[in-house]
Amino acid sequence: MREVVLATRNKGKIAEFERLLAEYASDIQVLGLADFPDLPDVEETGSTFQENSLLKAREVSAYCQLPALADDSGLCIDALGGDPGIYSARWSGVHGNDAENIAKVLHQLKEVESELRGAHFTCAVALHMPDGRELIEESHLFGTIVREPRGEAGFGYDPIFMPNNSSLTLGEFGPGEKDLISHRGQALRAIAPHLVALL
Ligand code: IMP
Repeated sequence: MREVVLATRNKGKIAEFERLLAEYASDIQVLGLADFPDLPDVEETGSTFQENSLLKAREVSAYCQLPALADDSGLCIDALGGDPGIYSARWSGVHGNDAENIAKVLHQLKEVESELRGAHFTCAVALHMPDGRELIEESHLFGTIVREPRGEAGFGYDPIFMPNNSSLTLGEFGPGEKDLISHRGQALRAIAPHLVALL
């Protein structure tokens, strides 16, 4: 088996990456950061999604001595000038508190009319190989922010994000359905054939 480390502790992301990678190769074992419990947290000090994904891929690959794939993603809301952007995970002040993050965004958009509630998810995926080779891809998913959370599926801002040409929020999508259109799905599909060739 060939091995690649996904630089995340988020089980939802690992499951999503595994499903997507399985479309390209069946001999790749996907490890997560749970397999390297002593790895120190990588500080996301970059100012763009691409910078942060590269930082994570480089540090994890150096520590694990394995190819590492890292993503950095977030929600960019037009009416908030692109916020929360790279701060999406900690928008409410507490890292990873999805309910509080959603509540803050809905509060900030309270007075914003339907046609001005446009937003997009961005995902940068970076691969760093132990020999120094690197790849990076960035993809987007465009939609609008609804007024109340809907659906239990997914994570993060999924219950308040309705992709264009859909009447459902991502929280109401099935897991396979989201992979087909998601920013992460698109970025990973773009990088996957190159990754499989390099491993
Ligand atoms: P990251 O883990 O540093 O990439 O932070 C990403 C944050 O952006 C997550 O904690 C979520 O709040 C948000 N986010 C990224 N991708 C998605 C998605 O597919 N659905 C919902 N929220 C997302």
